[in-house]
Amino acid sequence: MSDEKSDLKQEEGKKEETIAIEEEEAELTPPAEEKPPKKKYVFNCTKCGQCCEKREYIPVSFDDIRKWTQSGIINTVFPNLKMQTFPAQVQGEMREVISIVIAASDDGGCPLYDKENKLCNIYHSMPLECLAFPLGFNGNQYFIKDKTVPGIGNGTMTKEQLINDRDNARKDFEARVETQTLLPFTYTLFMQNLIEQQQKIRDEMSEEKKKQLDDLLQAESKEE
Ligand code: SF4
Repeated sequence: MSDEKSDLKQEEGKKEETIAIEEEEAELTPPAEEKPPKKKYVFNCTKCGQCCEKREYIPVSFDDIRKWTQSGIINTVFPNLKMQTFPAQVQGEMREVISIVIAASDDGGCPLYDKENKLCNIYHSMPLECLAFPLGFNGNQYFIKDKTVPGIGNGTMTKEQLINDRDNARKDFEARVETQTLLPFTYTLFMQNLIEQQQKIRDEMSEEKKKQLDDLLQAESKEE
């Protein structure tokens, strides 16, 4: 892992209480008497919808965008994406870093959540962040992003489930670090998609509307 990669710790992670989940075996072995018992991470989704309904934004990575482009659902997700800046520690300094996020809808929560049927509209292609949620990874430690989530402490968790959640949290962190590097290319993807959408809208316009639009654009360019 590069220095930059290991130093990049999302601020959200710093704010939350960290939880040591260093070795999955530790969860299955009774702690030695002299050591304090390890806090167990147990999460089983109750499908209450609370997480999706109250999220202010969902960070996404270039991997997520690539996945949506390949599976043909980018046009569903694209109108909900925006760039947002966050304070983060990079190479020992606090800096503003740009991230791509799914922004909350006007009435709050994820715009891709179907409240009526309590379903994610992109369930089979949900962002890595959602796959790992509420478990996060900040480059050094795993942590719980929101301790009020009802599924925390619900039932039991197998070793495989824990490994899977940890893998997703780690992959999400690494994919978002990569996104910082690839952001200029992501921007190009955004612009390409925007141009394609504009062209599509124009193709669907009547000749009269096209002429009105051309006249308007010409008038504006003369004013400039
Ligand atoms: S993308 Fe899907 S899983 Fe993630 S917050 Fe939105 S509705 Fe929920």
